Amino acid sequence: MPRTCSTFLFILFLAARIHAFDTVILDAGHGGHDRGAAIGHVYEKHLALDTTRRVQQLLTSAGLKVVMTRNTDVFIPLQGRSAIGNSRSNAIFVSIHYNHSRGGSGHGIETFHCHRTGYQLAAYIQAYMVKESGLQNRGVKRANFHVIRATTNNPAVLVECGFVSNRSERNAMIAGNYRNQIAEGIAKGIIAYRQK
Ligand SMILES: [Zn+2]
Repeated sequence: MPRTCSTFLFILFLAARIHAFDTVILDAGHGGHDRGAAIGHVYEKHLALDTTRRVQQLLTSAGLKVVMTRNTDVFIPLQGRSAIGNSRSNAIFVSIHYNHSRGGSGHGIETFHCHRTGYQLAAYIQAYMVKESGLQNRGVKRANFHVIRATTNNPAVLVECGFVSNRSERNAMIAGNYRNQIAEGIAKGIIAYRQK
């Protein structure tokens, strides 16, 4: 085979391998004494765990391996979460949170990445979350949150699935249907990113 041709095929092979992960590390934000955003009895830690379990089910049904940083209401330090994020190869890391803003007017969904390697994954998840939920698109943003900064072995993103501080979003997110739509969006975004 001519050298240029074999080089070309090798590049194609590498390109095809870029998104060939088989494991999804899901990180439900907060837990235990850390409630996260909280209004009345609505706690971010519960919403995040429930949404993460729904995503876990959808991804497992689609044939992907799923690792959960927590599967119960326990506190895990941020360093422990990013250590799990770095502990697997051929993986991606998705941290799931609900949002809060002073005054309560903030609304909609947004997805964060820190390193460039997470940008495309963030864009896919954000697009599918918006499509499934019909919520306001706050876009893909860059931030220095610990879990996505310190998870460097794998593409890493952090999703904010609506505002606990916003009365109408809070009233919607306490129903399973809202969290189902968000979970569908996250799972579909992950699967579309993988198939690209
Ligand atoms: Zn949070």
